[in-house]
Amino acid sequence: DKSLIEIGVHDLRDHATNVHRQVDDTPYGGGAGMVMMPEVWGKAIDQVIDKNSELIILTPAGKKFDQRMAEELSTKEHLIFACGRYEGIDDRVRQYYQSEGFKVREVSIGDYVLNGGEVAAIVIAEAVTRLIPGVLGNPESIVDESHAEDGYIEYPAFTKPAEWRGIKVPEVLLSGNHAKIKQWRLKMALQRTRDQRPDLLADRSLSKEESRLLQELDVELKAKQEQDSYN
Ligand code: SAM
Repeated sequence: DKSLIEIGVHDLRDHATNVHRQVDDTPYGGGAGMVMMPEVWGKAIDQVIDKNSELIILTPAGKKFDQRMAEELSTKEHLIFACGRYEGIDDRVRQYYQSEGFKVREVSIGDYVLNGGEVAAIVIAEAVTRLIPGVLGNPESIVDESHAEDGYIEYPAFTKPAEWRGIKVPEVLLSGNHAKIKQWRLKMALQRTRDQRPDLLADRSLSKEESRLLQELDVELKAKQEQDSYN
């Protein structure tokens, strides 16, 4: 509605050259599965690529997509997602556009294998477009969330009512004390990160406050473990 993003979907078979609208063929060197033909892809890409384009070839063999890559892609003018099927796209497609001076990258959305690149393209489009100024109602929403600049997992969120099925919202969030709320949120973010994604804490330097809170969390965890072993 605001013309902030324009998305085009292209049917590869429109560029097929034979009556069966074939887009794949058997692999050189043998082996199972079919490979997508370079000629079909070349004709399709030629129609949409220009000097402002960045060609993203979706493949589980690519660089893993993350929030930093989403931020980088959100500044680009034009992205082309090449969604593979079967055993993927003939590698000469990547080689050709790279050699012609276009920006090309191979991207994976995670360490698993999908049947096709379409959902991967949607995942990336979702993550990237919400970073474009004007897309989200409140631009602050993207500053204070998981995988933002601070690299932590976001603290847990609560809304009304203050008590639901016997579970109360943490007292501090009702206190109106903004400094205490901020500190509690940082502590919860650290706790969640330590418990769910210790890899995110592994190679980063911590502020004095963060180290103190992590020590506090360790002491609390030990106390809880001792308590549990008594029960
Ligand atoms: N033979 C390929 C391999 O082992 O690396 C897997 C091909 S996969 C069955 C078919 C297509 O799905 C790929 O060409 C790619 O476009 C897409 N795809 C599968 N897993 C993906 C992932 N993790 N990230 C991005 N795209 C993926």
